[in-house]
Amino acid sequence: QRKHQIVIVGGGAGGLSVASAALNQRPGLDIAVIEPSESHYYQPAWTLVGGGAYDIDATQRAEADCMPRQAHWIKQRVATFEPDHNQVTLEDGSTVGYDYLVTAAGIQLDWGKIEGLEATLGKNGVTSNYSFELAPYTWECIRNFRGGKALFTYPATPIKCAGAPQKILYLAADHFRRNGIKADVHFCTAGNAMFGVPFYSEALDQVMAYYGAAPDYKHNLVAVDGPHKKAIFEVGDDKKRVAVDFDMIHVVPPQSPPDFIKTSPLANEAGWVAVNAGTLRHDKYANVFGLGDCTSTPNSKTAAAVRAQSRVLVPNLLAVIDGEEPAQVYDGYASCPLTTSKGKMMLAEFVYGGKITPSFPADPRVPRRTYWWMKTTLLPKMYWDMVQGRPGPDWHAEREFPKALPAIQP
Ligand code: FAD
Repeated sequence: QRKHQIVIVGGGAGGLSVASAALNQRPGLDIAVIEPSESHYYQPAWTLVGGGAYDIDATQRAEADCMPRQAHWIKQRVATFEPDHNQVTLEDGSTVGYDYLVTAAGIQLDWGKIEGLEATLGKNGVTSNYSFELAPYTWECIRNFRGGKALFTYPATPIKCAGAPQKILYLAADHFRRNGIKADVHFCTAGNAMFGVPFYSEALDQVMAYYGAAPDYKHNLVAVDGPHKKAIFEVGDDKKRVAVDFDMIHVVPPQSPPDFIKTSPLANEAGWVAVNAGTLRHDKYANVFGLGDCTSTPNSKTAAAVRAQSRVLVPNLLAVIDGEEPAQVYDGYASCPLTTSKGKMMLAEFVYGGKITPSFPADPRVPRRTYWWMKTTLLPKMYWDMVQGRPGPDWHAEREFPKALPAIQP
């Protein structure tokens, strides 16, 4: 049987950040990364691609170029976990043993849960920034929009980057406004607020009002009829089915823990890898850690969270290898760069409990041009640095701001 000291499942943002940082700190480690994909994607820029502000090709790099040289890349998919035997089984039936396991397999996109969606994605004005193939089509839909109804949906499940469904709405609304295109823009969300953190949500209400966009709460998309351009929603607590005509629709698919995790002994009842919200160590298996979108930690699922988590996970893992207890604690940090127009961004940063923890002392509810520059230039660079084990500076801190909303000019 193949065996490695550390096995990392998933070579995305979390897996590669941990592999690289651990090897930077201890070059002698024997690390294997199990990752089936030939490509690594910088997903946070897909919003910009959909808004016509970023080149899709710049979001993709060969996985081989991102993988740390000293790591063993096993180019396969994990099928099952056997943590009681310290091994995983791959899709070809072979097993890989480990002393320590790190799970970083991301979140699963359940496109099939919306009836008719898969048949019409990429045509009939039906698009989604949640895929490399489709993000460029979002821009095509926006650019070719000549007026009418534009819908932007948010599903009834946890998702990665909770801000992404509305960021693209703002980029589209801004484009329509600048070009004098009459658009009836709706944010159709299964939820009942614009954002999970009220401090930011109130500011986003203002951004919606600025564009004259309607927030349609408790609207859960369940079916799409592409050829007839109709979206079917379950509306309200009684889930009444309502058909809405559209000229374009940006769909965010329902999401869930990957099936092979849901059914594994590592999962909690909801299917996520059950790790301690602070140390990121597994609740039951002391030699297992997890980070990123696949875990049970109640933070906002973002690459920004992965950055903060890898800073905690790597020293904790090394401590456990040395026979010590994990000492570092993740505070739930996540950030959501909300593109409020093509040219400005609101940088929502927060930790567990919705505490406001911006990196900078300026009021984070104010959309700023400097943040747009960060989003298009600095953050991509910081991401590629992060997967090479250089997570960069960390300035986030709890800061006080006046209760009253500042002037919001998207
Ligand atoms: P991923 O980076 O998705 O990596 C998971 C990896 O696991 C993949 O490479 C996959 O191939 C692999 N894998 C899956 N199944 C298996 C298996 N069975 N065996 C082995 N490997 C497997 N974050 C931000 O911080 N800011 C943003 O502005 C932002 N915007 C976003 C916009 C969009 C449209 C999207 C889609 C995402 C956005 N994100 C943003 C979220 C961010 O991309 C994710 O939170 C981040 O990539 C999570 O890292 P991860 O390692 O958990 O998962």
